[in-house]
Amino acid sequence: MIQSIDDIRADFPILHRKVKGHPLVYLDNAATTQKPKAVIDALTYYYTNTNANVHRGIHSLAEEATADFEATRDTVKEFINSAHREEVIFTRGTTESINLVAYTWGRQNIKEGDEIIISAMEHHSNIVPWQILCEEKNALLKVIPITEHGEIIMEEFDKLFSPKTKLVSVVHVSNAMGTINPVEEIINKSHAVGAKVLIDGAQSSMHLDINVQKLNCDFFACSAHKLFGPTGIGVLYGKKEILESMPPFHGGGEMIKDCTLPKTTYADLPYKFEAGTPNIGDTIAFKAALEYIQSIGKAHIRKHEDELLRYATEKLLQINGLKIIGTARNKISVISFVINGVHPQDVGILLDNKGIAIRTGHHCAQPLMDFYEIPGTMRASFAVYNTIEEIDKLTEGLQKAIKLLL
Ligand code: PMP
Repeated sequence: MIQSIDDIRADFPILHRKVKGHPLVYLDNAATTQKPKAVIDALTYYYTNTNANVHRGIHSLAEEATADFEATRDTVKEFINSAHREEVIFTRGTTESINLVAYTWGRQNIKEGDEIIISAMEHHSNIVPWQILCEEKNALLKVIPITEHGEIIMEEFDKLFSPKTKLVSVVHVSNAMGTINPVEEIINKSHAVGAKVLIDGAQSSMHLDINVQKLNCDFFACSAHKLFGPTGIGVLYGKKEILESMPPFHGGGEMIKDCTLPKTTYADLPYKFEAGTPNIGDTIAFKAALEYIQSIGKAHIRKHEDELLRYATEKLLQINGLKIIGTARNKISVISFVINGVHPQDVGILLDNKGIAIRTGHHCAQPLMDFYEIPGTMRASFAVYNTIEEIDKLTEGLQKAIKLLL
């Protein structure tokens, strides 16, 4: 049954608070999403009823906590359609997932003179780990250029390949512009030259169906907090045979098979990459978030968000001097824009005075801002709980802000 927008909004307690005397209009979903009551309840349930360390205990609480914790791995497996549950590694989020690959697979496989390809629209978390690796290994970081619309130029991508290309790491959906990249094609082309592919799915996982087997990517990274889940928990998916060949990331408890002073052998997947006490409560609550998304359905989410995007694009373009940054043909519900003569931050503050939350700045994509020769943008990003009325409030708020600032 398709839920009404009112039903969906009723599930998110925070949407009913006021900010500066106005009903909250939350349009910063690309930064983080709000949490439904089911997620908040799951977290409270864990700390109220089953709090215990996982995997090692034999008492009831430990067994219950472990079962709930591991149940999330099964739900993630279904959510991304991985072939095996042990291909799902829990991390702190997308940033840690990418760093894990850079510090383990990267250190093991990238040699002097090797090449890594990223795109010009990457988040800093898919730039800096590769810069660090390339510096350490004396390897080369190459960048796929983009068009003015914010789309990857595939012909230029083809030209970047060389026999030294070892890894292609690209964002599935741009957080700064909403562009959906042709990752299937990128993955196929990269595999044809023997390169591995990492997909940064921080933004795509909420809006698009994720099927890592169909994509055939080697790694996929995402964060729970962008999926109605808690902060501090995320996922690295990796193909089993690749993860098995990789050295561990962190050393410590949980990731060992046998530890003696002369030598330690490592645990099997996924625990080899999950040293120390994990983020148990948030992992358990993450399951509730994924189930919540499944209960609404990705198709319904996308349909509603696309309607919001269409409406917002039309409304915002009526504002004098407003320019949208990122006009790809294929995009999700993110609108970045600049307005002649006004500073994004000033607009952000004036909107906040009306209870409207948007993001302003470089969106952790400074090289992309350099490409457009701007210091930053204003960004409204929509979720399934946003409404047409909220977009009207945004438009009205922007018009008033411009009047005040110009
Ligand atoms: N990549 C993209 C495209 C993102 O939008 C984000 C979060 N803004 C990240 C990576 C990093 O995610 P996290 O901060 O959850 O690790």
